Amino acid sequence: YAAKHGHGGPVFATGLDDHARARLTTLEELRAGLDRDELVLHYQPKVTVGPERRVVGVEALVRWQHPVRGLVYPDAFLPTAESADLMGRITGAVLDLACRQSRAWHDQGLDVPVAVNLSVSNLRDPAFPDQVAALLERYRLPASALELEVTESVLMTDADNALQRLGTLRDMGVRLAVDDYGTGYSSLGYLQVLPADDLKLDRAFVSRCGTDPRSAAIVHSTVQLAHSLGMRIVAEGVEDEEILDRLREYGCDYAQGYGIARPQNAETATAWLAAHAAV
Ligand code: C2E
Ligand code: CA
Ligand code: CA
Ligand code: CA
Repeated sequence: YAAKHGHGGPVFATGLDDHARARLTTLEELRAGLDRDELVLHYQPKVTVGPERRVVGVEALVRWQHPVRGLVYPDAFLPTAESADLMGRITGAVLDLACRQSRAWHDQGLDVPVAVNLSVSNLRDPAFPDQVAALLERYRLPASALELEVTESVLMTDADNALQRLGTLRDMGVRLAVDDYGTGYSSLGYLQVLPADDLKLDRAFVSRCGTDPRSAAIVHSTVQLAHSLGMRIVAEGVEDEEILDRLREYGCDYAQGYGIARPQNAETATAWLAAHAAV
């Protein structure tokens, strides 16, 4: 990966192609943005699929509030951050914001676990579980207030250490979710070894399960697979009611998607949670 994307050491701008130069600018800007605390979180609710539609948590999604470019989405800056070893800093900032928000919601009587996405490099850091523990303590949160979402890419390099760190986090009481399930490579091998609470089925299958019988079969059997492994299943990318009906029929536990609620800034999410009685 590092060889393909270059690393974050000192680079001279002369002789770089346009793409590299653009990336370098973003990287400098991103470092400055981090110094100026320009990252913000949007929150997307997760609800039960049953008719009562209870709120079971929110996923924190990072955005960069850029002074000129406006709100920048993660796909536009996380790859740069990843290749420049900035993910430790970014996840640290995201976890801090998420825990602070969770504390504020808790104080308002809104008890919703917050899920944070991890990147591969976070689990390469031996100090990561301690950092999480320190944040929980700082914001006086039970570990169960936090969920960490990981994709199978975390096991691509140094799987033993990554698994050990995930095990430490889970022993602390932090919840773990397998993200984007079904889109990567060794998915079943991953489920065999990873101790997760939730399985998030990628929207590629969910969005088509109302019209495509093959996608429907995949969704239905993945629900059964998750349940037989003792996991709850979350359908991602639920955009309409018809899909929710299907998911209910298949025994899916939770749903997340634009059809339920879009990711919203802290203020709007708070109002949404209060209106939907997340207590
Ligand atoms: P993800 O973890 O799979 O997050 C779900 C993405 O799907 C979000 O995009 C969300 O806005 C979008 N989404 C939610 N419901 C729907 C729907 O019904 N239809 C469609 N088409 N999309 C939906 P977003 O916020 O742009 O994030 C993209 C990816 O960036 C995330 O995918 C995650 O992999 C990564 N990411 C976001 N925040 C963080 C973060 O704080 N840390 C790390 N390491 N990665 C993050
Ligand atoms: Ca996620
Ligand atoms: Ca996902
Ligand atoms: Ca994703």
